[in-house]
Amino acid sequence: MSQASLTIGVLALQGAFEAHAKALTALGATAKLVRTPAELKDLDGLIIPGGESTTFLKFLERGGFLDALQTFVATTPTFGTCAGAILLAKDVQNPTQPSLAALDITVERNAYGRQIDSAILTEQTKLEGGPLEMVFIRAPRITHAGPNVETLATRDGSPVLVREGHLLAATFHPELSNDPRVHQLFLDLVRRNLARQNPVNQNLARQDHGR
Ligand code: GLN
Repeated sequence: MSQASLTIGVLALQGAFEAHAKALTALGATAKLVRTPAELKDLDGLIIPGGESTTFLKFLERGGFLDALQTFVATTPTFGTCAGAILLAKDVQNPTQPSLAALDITVERNAYGRQIDSAILTEQTKLEGGPLEMVFIRAPRITHAGPNVETLATRDGSPVLVREGHLLAATFHPELSNDPRVHQLFLDLVRRNLARQNPVNQNLARQDHGR
C-alpha cells in the first residue's frame, strides 16, 4: 500500500541517517533530513539515528534544538535507534547524561563492551515473519522498562526493541539490515497516531490493521 502521504524526518546532525532515509523511501514514505529546529515542522514522525549520543547532545545544546526536540517528541511519533534510544530514555547511566527524558526506560551506555564487541544476532521477536537480524554497535543495554513499555525483542533477557505509546526505540541498527519490518512497524505506529488525531484518517489505519 502506498505510504506517500507520510513525511518522516531523520535527524541528520551525525550518525547513520542516510541508511534510515533509504529504508523509509523504500517503504514509500517521504524522508526529510532534519538539521535545524525549524525543520521539525510538518513532520508525521521522526527517526533519531545511531551515532554518538554525547556528540548529538553537543549539537542539540545549540540554538534551543534540545528544547524544540523535547517538545516535538512529547507528542509526535519518534523512533530512536541506539544513540537515538539513549536520547529518548528517561534515565541514562554509565555515565549519567542529559536526555529528552520521553521514554520510560533506563539505559546503560556501552553496556556490551567496546567496539570490538559489536555483534550481529538473529533472534525471534514479537514481529511476524520469523527471526530478525539485529546489528549491535557499542549498544546500550535497557536495564529497566516502565510498566507501560512493551518489549518486542530481547537480547540475553534485556529488552532491545521497545514501544511506549507514540515512541519506539531499538538498541540495535535496523537500517543496517536488509529487512524492512522495524521501519514498517514505525510507519504503522505513525499512521495509527494520525488516525487518532484525525478521524478522517481512520480508514487508512484500519487498512493497515492485520498487515
Ligand atoms: N555508544 C554510543 C553512545 O553511547 C551509541 C552507539 C550507536 O549509536 N551505535 O552514544
